[in-house]
Amino acid sequence: MKGISRRRYVQHEARMVQGDEAAMFRQVILSVADSRIVSDTVKRYGFQLGARRFVAGETLDDAVAVTRAVNADGMAATLDHLGESVRDVAEARAAAAAYGELQARIAAEKLDANVSLKLSMMGLDIDRDLAVSETRALVETAVRLQNFVRIDMEDSRYTTVTLEIYRELWGAFPGSVGTVLQAYLRRSVDDLRALSDEPRNFRIVKGAYSEPHERAFPAKADVDDNFVRLVEMSLEAGHYTAIATHDERMIGSTLRYIRAHAVPRDRFEFQMLYGINLASLRELAREGYRTRVYIPYGTDWYAYFTRRLAERPANLLFFARALWSR
Ligand SMILES: Cc1cc2nc3c(=O)[nH]c(=O)nc-3n(C[C@H](O)[C@H](O)[C@H](O)COP(=O)(O)OP(=O)(O)OC[C@H]3O[C@@H](n4cnc5c(N)ncnc54)[C@H](O)[C@@H]3O)c2cc1C
Repeated sequence: MKGISRRRYVQHEARMVQGDEAAMFRQVILSVADSRIVSDTVKRYGFQLGARRFVAGETLDDAVAVTRAVNADGMAATLDHLGESVRDVAEARAAAAAYGELQARIAAEKLDANVSLKLSMMGLDIDRDLAVSETRALVETAVRLQNFVRIDMEDSRYTTVTLEIYRELWGAFPGSVGTVLQAYLRRSVDDLRALSDEPRNFRIVKGAYSEPHERAFPAKADVDDNFVRLVEMSLEAGHYTAIATHDERMIGSTLRYIRAHAVPRDRFEFQMLYGINLASLRELAREGYRTRVYIPYGTDWYAYFTRRLAERPANLLFFARALWSR
């Protein structure tokens, strides 16, 4: 940073993510986050100093309290019990059991909420059948409780298998399970087309992982164009569509489309992440649109937190400053 003031540096960083280097910034941050020294330090101090802004808390009680407040504000929630690839069958079963407990608590407390989960946490890296049977049991529970399970999308090593499992589960429990398509992936338009043989349920996002250029658009402008394209294709095909973004331009473009095509309000919803831009989601709720806040909780918050840092240099600077002045 030698030779430039902190203010100019922040401005430079802000311009950088507006431009085509956003993917590069994400790649650097996510690879640094893999380092043992960085992860040990961040895990030690990071929750109080930064992660708390994006994570409801470390316990189910924390998540329930935040969900109640979000519901009281007129917004629904989707709860993510944080954690990713597990190492053995016991960990996968424990993760699925935590989700079972979450579903029961949502029902008992009559919360306006469903769950979002990752197949790697259900054991996908150990055994596909294990992940399918644990997820299937959770979708069965959702059916019994008249609720819903969203399968989050992870990095592109998982895209094909996630969509296959989604198709399988949708076949058994139509309407009770949804998944996610990422606009930064070149393949997503084809994936959506292939899954448009009947109306399903998709969340459209830009994508949060570090991906090679062969698979993902490096330029933000292309990701944004593809996001708009996927949202419009999804609505046109009659899929229930969750428009998951904090980008006012993406939201504005969706609103124009749904007005021009008279898309009924019960065919889509807007979603945002806990801790980011919630005032604008609240505004959409007040205008009568369906809205949902993605609420992560749990002790395994490191990977989720680093993805939020990698999305925005200002978050990283804020966190680095807090760490420095500790
Ligand atoms: C409900 C929900 C579910 C998601 N599920 C998945 C998933 O399953 N798989 C997946 O790969 N990704 C998922 N994502 C993350 C997504 O892919 C993006 O990484 C993330 O939403 C940032 O992109 P954006 O659409 O907000 O647009 P951007 O262009 O990145 O950001 C637009 C504006 O939003 C604000 N903003 C965005 N991110 C941040 C941040 N971290 N901190 C502060 N402000 C910010 C800034 O004002 C920024 O200018 C999900 C996102 C949401 C909202």
